Amino acid sequence: MIRIYINITNQCNTNCPFCCMYSGTEKSTYMSFNKYKEIIDFHKKDFELQLEGGEPLLHEDLYLFLEYARSTKRCKKIILSTNGILLDSHFVRLVDFNKYNKIPITVKLSINYWLHKENPRCFEKALDWHLATEFIEGFNIKLNVRLRNQDQLIRDEINNNNLGAISNIYYLQSYGKLSGNKDYEKPVIVQNIDDWFLYSTDGTCFNKDLIARSEHEGRLL
Ligand code: SF4
Repeated sequence: MIRIYINITNQCNTNCPFCCMYSGTEKSTYMSFNKYKEIIDFHKKDFELQLEGGEPLLHEDLYLFLEYARSTKRCKKIILSTNGILLDSHFVRLVDFNKYNKIPITVKLSINYWLHKENPRCFEKALDWHLATEFIEGFNIKLNVRLRNQDQLIRDEINNNNLGAISNIYYLQSYGKLSGNKDYEKPVIVQNIDDWFLYSTDGTCFNKDLIARSEHEGRLL
């Protein structure tokens, strides 16, 4: 089993000052369906697919991408990395995709001080999404928490909302917009899969080089 990580857009609907992919509202690169298909077709083994960005829920072809992955019969899991701002309007469709296709979906919800400032109800919403799908087999909400600012507030919100069991808590790392910042550590990649591949928004493969992909993203419009 391999995992394919694809940035399908570098546009985001917010502008975190520490974004590791240099994404933001001013960016405008979207992966085409043909480029995406080329990447999927290149990998012949069974795969897990992580769609990320930027904000992948902004991509108008997102469900075309999911359908194509499903149609190969090699896609064994989908991970969607999102800031959650648009999740309400996609939620039922994602649950239905999981239900009808029996492909596990994990929604990896980013949480950090900036997103909390933008939406102070983000923890409450995360709990609602979790509780609404708790007993749906193969559909999971996971919180991808990044600390280094207002850490106690974030930890308190996680505890008060009983979100500890579904939270992965890490610190912000020194790449992307934090590149070169000596107060932060370099990214460490912990993997639980045989092999994995990182793709940038324009379809370039960086194999396992997270930092090179990030710097490349920084140069894309
Ligand atoms: S960190 Fe995530 S939510 Fe923030 S700008 Fe980057 S892609 Fe968007």
